[in-house]
Amino acid sequence: MDKENQTVSFLKSITLNSRAWSIWWNLCPGLFLSSLLHSASAALNLYTAVWLSARMITEVAGSSSPRTVISLALAQVLSASSFSLLTAVLKRFKTYYADSASCLYHRIYMDKMFSLDYTRLDSQDTYSLYSQIIQNDAWSSLGIHETVSLFETFTAACAQILGGIILAAPLLSAPVPPGSGSLSLLNHPLCGCFLIGLMLLIALFSSFCADKAQNYWTLYAPKTRLGNRMADFYISAAKDRKRALDMRIYNQSEIIAKFYMEGNTPFGPSSEIARCAKGPMGIWAALSQSVSAVLTVMIYLFVCLKAWAGAFGLGDVVVYTAAIANLFLGISQLSGALGRMAANGRFLETAFGFLDAPSIMYQGTLTTEKRSDGQYEIEFRNVSFCYPGAQDYALRHINMKFPIGSRLAIVGANGSGKTTFIKLLCRLYDPTEGEILLNGIDIRKYKYVDYIDLFSVVFQDFKLFALPLGENIAGSCRFDSLKASSCLEKAGFSNQKAVMPHGLSTFLYRDLDGRGAELSLGEAQKTAIARALYKDAPFMILDEPTAALDPVSEAEIYEKFGAITRGKTAVCISHRLSSCKFCDEVAVFDKGNLVQQGSHDLLLQDPQGKYYELWHAQAQYYYPENA
Ligand code: ADP
Repeated sequence: MDKENQTVSFLKSITLNSRAWSIWWNLCPGLFLSSLLHSASAALNLYTAVWLSARMITEVAGSSSPRTVISLALAQVLSASSFSLLTAVLKRFKTYYADSASCLYHRIYMDKMFSLDYTRLDSQDTYSLYSQIIQNDAWSSLGIHETVSLFETFTAACAQILGGIILAAPLLSAPVPPGSGSLSLLNHPLCGCFLIGLMLLIALFSSFCADKAQNYWTLYAPKTRLGNRMADFYISAAKDRKRALDMRIYNQSEIIAKFYMEGNTPFGPSSEIARCAKGPMGIWAALSQSVSAVLTVMIYLFVCLKAWAGAFGLGDVVVYTAAIANLFLGISQLSGALGRMAANGRFLETAFGFLDAPSIMYQGTLTTEKRSDGQYEIEFRNVSFCYPGAQDYALRHINMKFPIGSRLAIVGANGSGKTTFIKLLCRLYDPTEGEILLNGIDIRKYKYVDYIDLFSVVFQDFKLFALPLGENIAGSCRFDSLKASSCLEKAGFSNQKAVMPHGLSTFLYRDLDGRGAELSLGEAQKTAIARALYKDAPFMILDEPTAALDPVSEAEIYEKFGAITRGKTAVCISHRLSSCKFCDEVAVFDKGNLVQQGSHDLLLQDPQGKYYELWHAQAQYYYPENA
């Protein structure tokens, strides 16, 4: 069952809401202050206008001096203009703080993403939870965002209620003069209590109906999330430039357009949500409005009856009707906000479920001593690994030592476990069984940041940022230009000056700068190699380093392979077996097992071996006589 279909107790939603407010408070205290001041100023504006108007009516009806009426009119103009100005200014502040808090808000999730360990981040559960949060937010600001508007409603409602109580309080105590017949009943304390109770009941029933209508939105959240996902899929596929070629050649518009068509999306005019909006949701909303109208009639009736019986004059009728109407409006807003807070509880639970997700991997405390001699020895000891949720092991019983300063080639068919081996080596995952040792100590015992610092990796599906070339290479806003240029040179990006008109300051791609350089796959791969060189870590890992390079660039990289990996322990995954000749050792993987290890020449001598089979399968196209 979807967790968001389960309700959360009112007390729990208050706790969750308070936690969300404390997050906002830390992000942007001005949000609260501006909201409070704005609500107070708006209520003062409203009630001062009511009170002054009533005084003017009393003065005019009582035929007092024109000077008093003029003074009251002036006070009315002055207070209305100054309070309106103040309220408008405070509203700007409130909007400004709300907008800046919204920008900062994404940091909460991004910081969490960065702090999560890779195993947790890579899991489908984490992805689904995060998507749920984003889609709830997009659908109706449900979750942490909703608590901002809840605070605004709470403060506005409380200010309105407080002002209403202050102005309307004398209404109950103003006695109907003796001899008013049956209207003297209005003096009885029970009469006042009964009327207030009835009005409260009506106000609460009105907001109950409004809540019922609102609840349909939250009930439909899972459906709308799915709709948003489908719309996202359609829109992102349609606008993705990288897909444009495939889309045209295979006429793929039809297979994705169905996700946006009536009948498949939950948002169409004949969808369940639309039917509900026209049906029960609309009926509850209409009922809430009509009950509010009954409340207004009752207020007028009570005040007018008291005035008619002579309890107060015409001016006070204006004050009391306006004050009580606004008081009950405030009560109904407050109870509506409490209902929304309760409904939002389950969405806050989802949000905090993500924010509280612990990192799974054990975090060690040992530092990897920075050895000037680069003497780091790694050993895989009986390591097996199964991806979370997968049925089969991706690696089984791997035993291997990395001789310091050596170059190791890893070969094997697709899916044989080569990349998984690298991911374990870099501790993106921990082994399911066995252990990996660095200088004789389990790598889990080292501080993760220290350990990861030992590796420069060029992954098969590396990613570059649409930022300046130099920043991409250094992974930092500040970089050593000479070192960055020399790394580019070493990586074989010798024609970079032609491609990069502004040198290291040239933006990659055009996402952020219209004059950015559109890199070919090969150029991007060379840039990624330069990035790995710049890090200058003792271990250099290259996963298919020449996959996107043309034959000349590939030959160039292999020529420079010695220089690129000098003084480091290098691991190179490659399908081009000719690259194994440049390595001291070759490890052959097959179906998750390490089946052979030795030098290229040695392995070629075993005609029954996997390496022999792979080598000859490739060589036959280059040297048919070898087939
Ligand atoms: P290679 O790099 O040799 O092509 P991989 O190490 O990528 O192979 O994959 C080894 C096995 O692990 C394959 O069967 C693959 O389907 C599986 N695998 C890879 N990544 C994941 C993952 N994130 N979740 C589940 N299984 C995975």
